[in-house]
Amino acid sequence: MYIRDTIAAVSTPPGNGGIGIIRVSGDNAAAVGNTIFKPVCDGGLVSHRFSFGTICDKATGEKIDEAMAVYMRAPHSYTREDVLELHCHGGWLVVERVLALVLSCGVRLADPGEFTRRAFLNGRIDLIQAEAVMDIIASRSEAALQLAQKQSEGALSVRIEGVRVCLLRALALVEAYIDFPDDDLGETDVAAILVSVGEAQNTITGLLSTFEEGRVMRDGVSVLIVGKPNAGKSSLLNRLLNENRAIVTHIPGTTRDIIEETVNFDGLSVRLLDTAGIRHTDDLVEQEGISRALEKIPQADLVLAVFDASSEFSQEDQLILDALAGRRTVAVLNKTDLQQRFLFPNVDRFAAIVRIIALSGDGIDLLKQTVCKQFLHSGTTDSRELVALSRARHRDALVSAEHCLRQFYSGLSDRNLELLALDLRGALQAVGAVTGQTATDEVLDLIFSSFCIGK
Ligand code: GDP
Repeated sequence: MYIRDTIAAVSTPPGNGGIGIIRVSGDNAAAVGNTIFKPVCDGGLVSHRFSFGTICDKATGEKIDEAMAVYMRAPHSYTREDVLELHCHGGWLVVERVLALVLSCGVRLADPGEFTRRAFLNGRIDLIQAEAVMDIIASRSEAALQLAQKQSEGALSVRIEGVRVCLLRALALVEAYIDFPDDDLGETDVAAILVSVGEAQNTITGLLSTFEEGRVMRDGVSVLIVGKPNAGKSSLLNRLLNENRAIVTHIPGTTRDIIEETVNFDGLSVRLLDTAGIRHTDDLVEQEGISRALEKIPQADLVLAVFDASSEFSQEDQLILDALAGRRTVAVLNKTDLQQRFLFPNVDRFAAIVRIIALSGDGIDLLKQTVCKQFLHSGTTDSRELVALSRARHRDALVSAEHCLRQFYSGLSDRNLELLALDLRGALQAVGAVTGQTATDEVLDLIFSSFCIGK
């Protein structure tokens, strides 16, 4: 539900900063500005022009702060309503006092994401774009940012709209016959319907195939480092992090717990987890570390299995390979500066094998690239246009649209027009949920409540 009252919130992060911005949106935005802001120059607030002045409490005559104010007349604003932004000094107390003054003018404190929700409800952006705004703010890697920016520009929305148009075209043809029950569905129209539905189906299937890569771009990946004690896992972790995060010793079995750090590899966000060396041991603490390492294996997107090139393939290495059965694994052959004794029993089970010297850093860049290649530019994402699904919500909606279309195809031979129309409407409903056209208030509440206040 959309109550057209005037809302306000602090749009800059909490704490002290250079500038603090209070945003006001709604019909009374200009009135609030004229009440509490006194521009230095005559003429009052002019739309889309910054003016310098003071924020004053009229009731007491007290000057609260010097500030810049900008008023943006509807519809040319973030929310498509009248918007006022007050840029004052960034101390939390100043910002709180200005906000209190704004609220005293009969303005309500905005809910999380309410400005963006209004932009959506006023038709400036669709739900994909609103979610992309949140993703831009939360981006932890170049890949995530680029994808979110493309989505906020409408790249994914255009594809979804294309699907909707195809489905509407097909539905219009089917419904035309429902209205004239004496006419049989002609072959030309059947062909036209099939073309439209086929086009929609192709786009949906294409988009669904981008989900894995889109998810990885948005959320990053988790990469687990495993290997026998002393293979060089901690040295590798330190190299990948470019710092001495893990303790490196020549004493086997010293890493007991899991060390977790997030880094960027060529724009991809990677959560690295270094584990205890896997081997048979009687030491209870070490055993606990090993079982924690083994527990993590099924949750990781990729495993880096580190082997010591200077020692022969051992029972411990076999233990690790057994634990990794069925997992996507890159073999890392470390200590290649020493005399080589290691031979892989089966090279085919690895996604790649990379030779490194963790001690000097040789091969580390290649390893990073190899990790990225496992996830990005698999060919499924249109990398030029960067159109990819990245949210489970979008994926789930398109899966249910695909399900409706499958039912549509299987019902075609019966020519039951009511049922065919029902399937097409089901698909439209699902597709509309992605852009928000058919999203319920509960869905919108859920999405916007995860936004920050002031956005
Ligand atoms: P972890 O138990 O698997 O974490 O292994 P560490 O990273 O603690 O390394 C074990 C030992 O191997 C340490 O003495 C390291 O200095 C040494 N080491 C690690 N990487 C290399 C390498 O590439 N070449 C050589 N010669 N020694 C290495």
